[in-house]
Amino acid sequence: MTARIIDGKAIAQEVRAEWKARADALKARGIVPGLAVIIVGEDPASKVYVANKVKACAELGLHSEHIVMPADTSEAALLGRIAALNADPKIHGILVQLPVPRHIDSGKVLEAISPDKDVDGFHPVNVGALATGNMRFAPCTPYGAMKLLEKSGVSIEGKHAVVIGRSNIVGKPMAMLLLQANATVTICTSKTVDLAKFTRDADILVVATGKPKMITGDMIKPGAAVIDVGINRMADGKLCGDVDFDSAKEVAGWITPVPGGVGPMTITMLVANTVRSAERTVGK
Ligand code: NDP
Repeated sequence: MTARIIDGKAIAQEVRAEWKARADALKARGIVPGLAVIIVGEDPASKVYVANKVKACAELGLHSEHIVMPADTSEAALLGRIAALNADPKIHGILVQLPVPRHIDSGKVLEAISPDKDVDGFHPVNVGALATGNMRFAPCTPYGAMKLLEKSGVSIEGKHAVVIGRSNIVGKPMAMLLLQANATVTICTSKTVDLAKFTRDADILVVATGKPKMITGDMIKPGAAVIDVGINRMADGKLCGDVDFDSAKEVAGWITPVPGGVGPMTITMLVANTVRSAERTVGK
């Protein structure tokens, strides 16, 4: 058996079209959804991510502000900038590209963003809202992974979902979203004993470890849906996931490639969260 390949690029286009229609409907009422992206310093990877986020906003006709602050920006200056954006009615979503320079406390920064404009879903209020089942903004990468499952027709309710990784940006919120969708959820970490015992029982396997090709075909249940969140750059310059695609695709029922799987969805869901945030201002 060869797995169905989940085409993240095609699904991202489809989802973007849905959210463009919602953005257009808002514009017809005089509201242009706006996203502010702040980058502090010159990290090259971060610059690429930020440029892609701004580009995606432009494609959907959203207003976006790309705010570049020097690496020696003080924490107070950054917090001041965030406070101004919190009060700016043109802006419905604010994100600060992580990592920030070490002299700035990233926890303070995330808490300074108004929970109503926290389109990354990292503010403790929004993390709590997700955990208590009152989701407002789901973190974009796991939200995108859920959309891939939904659009591929993978049923979640009653299934055993195994998430490998417990980061605040991927693993933990992914587990929460799967739980919300009525999966039976197991979270594995680097301390898990006999990882394969869990992965072989997974109907849905989400891998977010940052360890290239660590999940091989023999660790996968036949027919499982495999979502590979990992993005690893190899010595030859090519990207690969945390799953060994070649062996996994012979066993899995569905699988996301890297690149072209989860990656294109992350920015799409950022745009979706910005439009949703703007929709919430209607009538306020
Ligand atoms: P982190 O490094 O923050 O977390 C990795 C997690 O994997 C940890 O919880 C760690 O366990 C666990 N882990 C590491 N090794 C093993 C192992 N051998 N067995 C089981 N668990 C293990 O990474 P992120 O969550 O930020 O990112 C994960 C991957 O996803 C990376 O490749 C990253 O590049 C990619 N990514 C992709 C995005 C996208 O848009 N597609 C967005 C964000 C991330 P422990 O907690 O015990 O240390």
